[in-house]
Amino acid sequence: MDVTDVSIPSGAMLIGDTWVAGDDAARRDHLNPATGKPLGSFALGSPTDIDDAVAAAQAAFPAWRDLAPVVRRDLLLELARLLAAHDVELGTLRTLELGAPLKRKRGRSMAAEYVTYYAGWVDKLEGSTVPLGPGALDYTRPEPYGVVAVIIPWNGPVVSAAMKVAPALAAGNCVVLKPSELGPLSALRFGELCLEAGIAPGVVNVVPGGPDAGDHLVRHPGIGKISFTGGGATATRIMAAAAIRLTPLTLELGGKSALMIFDDANIDKAVQIGVTTGLINLSGQGCVLPTRMLVHDSIYDDVEQRVLAIVHALRPGDPFDPATTFGPVINAAAASRILGVIDRARADDAGRIIAGGSRIGGDLADGFYIEPTVFSDVDNQSSLAQDEVFGPVLSLVRFRDEAQGVAIANDTKYGLGGFVFTRNIDRAHRVAANLEAGSIGINGFPPMPPGAPFGGVKQSGFGREGAAAGLWEFLQLKNVYVELDPA
Ligand code: NAD
Repeated sequence: MDVTDVSIPSGAMLIGDTWVAGDDAARRDHLNPATGKPLGSFALGSPTDIDDAVAAAQAAFPAWRDLAPVVRRDLLLELARLLAAHDVELGTLRTLELGAPLKRKRGRSMAAEYVTYYAGWVDKLEGSTVPLGPGALDYTRPEPYGVVAVIIPWNGPVVSAAMKVAPALAAGNCVVLKPSELGPLSALRFGELCLEAGIAPGVVNVVPGGPDAGDHLVRHPGIGKISFTGGGATATRIMAAAAIRLTPLTLELGGKSALMIFDDANIDKAVQIGVTTGLINLSGQGCVLPTRMLVHDSIYDDVEQRVLAIVHALRPGDPFDPATTFGPVINAAAASRILGVIDRARADDAGRIIAGGSRIGGDLADGFYIEPTVFSDVDNQSSLAQDEVFGPVLSLVRFRDEAQGVAIANDTKYGLGGFVFTRNIDRAHRVAANLEAGSIGINGFPPMPPGAPFGGVKQSGFGREGAAAGLWEFLQLKNVYVELDPA
């Protein structure tokens, strides 16, 4: 499929069965990050649009909740089929809106896998009975919250949507999905596919918008539960707003994950995975990506050289060109923010800069490209090592033994991911147990299968996506006591 074969969604909001164009003044141009040229404009939801979307979801809720489980299951399976069938199109839209180089070999659709997985739960939402003797019966009923607010970031809209919307729908909730104002196009297409799958209008509503729309949504009295993925500062505001009505929350937040390489590791594999996931993928704009590479002292120089070899071989360019291996960041504001972080790290002597550090010019000057940047011998106390950069900046940090390495890895407010590369099986599991993070990879980067729980500890959030735990985020347990008259 070529970029010209993809129809860009009209940019209208999906509210009930209607595509709402919104106010002209509230439309926003989205610039293609690779070229800096407008890709299209789309509506930003106003408070009234949010009210309408919540009302549409409330109206759809009783019928969706009461649908025979096998019917709800089959509707989700149809959505999964459509997501898989449109995977190339959705991937192309993602490349257009995020600038990430197009993956030509598309093996699996992660979004489809999540929807399929949760479709399988619909007819297995069992309660339990509580033994109370012959005089009484007591049983539980897992019940949906009603209307759920799903707020997602721009950096992986379809997967983020599927990870939340699939379990929410499987549990019998209806959804108001608010994609980020910075990347709503593929999320709008996701909404369109929900309708195409036969899911009733109003069950899934998609209203892109900025902080004001998000704030109005989380304060809305019609919202039973909030599931949020995004940054910690936003989460603090959402939690404060949710506190007013005590609306329950699931929070999937940022990270500063460490990837530890011990001297007995398969160094080649460790470095390749570390640089690919920590620097190259999405140009470092990911939550769980290992942006701190912790390297044992005895192999430090070797690892540094290997990192540089990979970085120097990268080909920034047009994300649709098969030769391109490195893409832009999301927009001009992100580019200047990231360059500011690099300048501050230089000024603070946070580490030695050994690659990159500037905006890429020449043919790519109109796009938002930052050179892949590596700091070596980074001080783990520096802001560079402590704060999420959300850009292509990798920090190499030295450690001398396991205890010190784990202490450095844990010396962060975040706790999303942790990765360890070693051939010592005892050490691998010991380190996995001692890392303060929700998701650990031993000698590999987890592919995040839907059956495995994903989420953070500390300031990386609470609650889980994936697995049964992800489903229970959208269910509340009712207990029913029945007193039986003696015969
Ligand atoms: P962000 O926090 O700026 O925005 C996230 C979403 O919240 C957007 O839809 C935004 O419009 C909305 N929002 C902003 N202010 C709001 C408010 N006051 N009330 C309600 N909604 C509001 O984050 P971003 O820049 O879009 O994404 C990057 C962040 O997301 C990073 O910190 C990254 O680590 C995190 N992230 C986490 C995960 C995860 O699974 N843990 C996955 C992807 C991204």
